[in-house]
Amino acid sequence: MRTGVMGGTFDPIHMGHLLLAETVRDECGLDCVLFVPASIPPHKTDDPVSDPAHRLAMTALAVEGSDGLCVSDCEVRRGGVSYTVDTLRALSDLSDTKGDEFHLILGMDNLLDLHAWRDPDALFRLAAVIVMDRPGVPEEKADPRFLSRIRRVRTPLIQISSTEIRARVKNGKSIQFWVHPAVERYILRNGLYR
Ligand code: ATP
Repeated sequence: MRTGVMGGTFDPIHMGHLLLAETVRDECGLDCVLFVPASIPPHKTDDPVSDPAHRLAMTALAVEGSDGLCVSDCEVRRGGVSYTVDTLRALSDLSDTKGDEFHLILGMDNLLDLHAWRDPDALFRLAAVIVMDRPGVPEEKADPRFLSRIRRVRTPLIQISSTEIRARVKNGKSIQFWVHPAVERYILRNGLYR
């Protein structure tokens, strides 16, 4: 089984996440891409983040009925600050066969910060690292030590962020087609981001 692992805050999961994950799945011949919402994201400790239960529920709604996109609640269940290296270790321990392969999928913004992640070298031992383009994030700024060890996948440049979606909701703007319809309904029903 070739599994893509895409961690994040997913506050909320947006159409960019879905389209990019599907593109990488197809390009890299992965059986599935697992979205893993963080319990407490290590790099966003200053900003208020929605309750993990909401972020997990929205992620589950977004992938429901899709082919090859799924969600894991392992970081939310583990609680505390979520480190990707712990998640990859847990997934490898749980895997059924030695032949299982994990592919960690990161946006270019994440690659630029990777030196500040917990045990970045271990990430490369536990998974193949795939990096997707992100508008306005120049790869020249990435650490060459990391650049030489990643697989770069050319993905559509999508200028959508969860930050922008939260701002749109706060300002009473439409988020139709920015997020999956079920996620839009969930946000409105639960009064998130107002
Ligand atoms: P925020 O705006 O709250 O910082 P975000 O839109 O960056 O959120 P995350 O949940 O932090 O979303 O992202 C999860 C993963 O998806 C990260 O690896 C991030 O780099 C990647 N990602 C998110 N949006 C894009 C995008 N538009 N293009 C490329 N990669 C993206």
